[in-house]
Amino acid sequence: MNQHSSTKTSRTLPSRRKFITDTATIIGSALIVSSPFDASARFLSLDEPVTVGQIIDRFISQVPRGPIENTVDTLKSGSRDTIVTGIVTTMFATIEVIRKAIALGANFIIAHEPTFYNHQDNTQWLENDDVYRYKADLLKQHSITVWRNHDYIHSLATDGVRKQVVEQLGWQRFGDPAQNVFNLSPAVTLKQLISEAKKRLNIQMVRYIGSPDQLCSKVVLMPGASGGTRQIEAISKNKPDVLMCGEISEWETAEYVRDARAKGDKVSLVVLGHIASEEPGSAYMAKWLKENFPAIKTTHIPAGNSLSFL
Ligand SMILES: [Zn+2]
Repeated sequence: MNQHSSTKTSRTLPSRRKFITDTATIIGSALIVSSPFDASARFLSLDEPVTVGQIIDRFISQVPRGPIENTVDTLKSGSRDTIVTGIVTTMFATIEVIRKAIALGANFIIAHEPTFYNHQDNTQWLENDDVYRYKADLLKQHSITVWRNHDYIHSLATDGVRKQVVEQLGWQRFGDPAQNVFNLSPAVTLKQLISEAKKRLNIQMVRYIGSPDQLCSKVVLMPGASGGTRQIEAISKNKPDVLMCGEISEWETAEYVRDARAKGDKVSLVVLGHIASEEPGSAYMAKWLKENFPAIKTTHIPAGNSLSFL
């Protein structure tokens, strides 16, 4: 599934005027407003053009296990030979995020999750779908390359997502970021635990099972979508006070926790939301790019939650 295109890039370098117009466009409050003076930094980088392939290879060179076979971290559009004019990091390359990248003059999006609604980004079944076509055409029209960085960032010496989430929660002193289990000291109530997690991870609302006054010390933290089997096995093995996870299948983990409580166990469940639970990993990706390719303008755009709460 790895796409290693050998074709020459068809993208021509943008004119200075075009670049200034692009970067002067203000789109959304989350973005930094660029001044034309930023252009100097970018044009320095154009003296030594950097390709998509060079950036991907630099990241992979820092992963201890090296290139991964059968990874989902493939190009979802564009080509390795594209000369990068700007980068956007995000959890999901949504149509909104793509539009913001276009307005920023960025032609490379690094997303953590799939672009086309399934883990492998298989698009055969979507060929006649209007939404898929719109998104694929938008990427093509604006020569935007999308790379998924999922398996690689999770394979850094310490999982690059988990490490950032633990730091943002301020839990480094309660456990090894490479592990699931954290022993909070002093213990806090479930209500306090939830309110602190919401604040630190910028979450509007979480779903939970448990009693708000229950004291919690041992927490199993599983950002993202680990799957019901792994979540249930982690509860079974570690007997935590709480499982705090990204997302669940309602018919799997939630039903297990409900039965465990009915049996007399005091385990609780906190569902943070998949995107919020891994967002610090995508923000870290932007930081990594700024350190490794400082001449290229990188912007982290939070994809936000697709779901609203009433
Ligand atoms: Zn992930």
